[in-house]
Amino acid sequence: MKVKLRQERCKECGICVDACPKKAISFSDEISITGYRPVVVDDDQCIGCGICYTMCPDWVFEITGE
Ligand code: SF4
Ligand code: SF4
Repeated sequence: MKVKLRQERCKECGICVDACPKKAISFSDEISITGYRPVVVDDDQCIGCGICYTMCPDWVFEITGE
């Protein structure tokens, strides 16, 4: 996994979904504890570029490099 998520912080704004160059980010079908559909990342598509980490206003992403 190249990206770790703190899903409880996601406010479903969609900025990262639009910004990801690999279209690896989508919204979960499940509602989070805060009432939003948090993002999920397709690990097979993710290249670990860090754009989502840079763009997210709510610090949902962590880049692990693993
Ligand atoms: S690290 Fe890059 S490729 Fe991976 S989910 Fe974030 S924006 Fe997309
Ligand atoms: S940019 Fe952050 S808050 Fe907005 S949808 Fe993506 S992870 Fe959620």
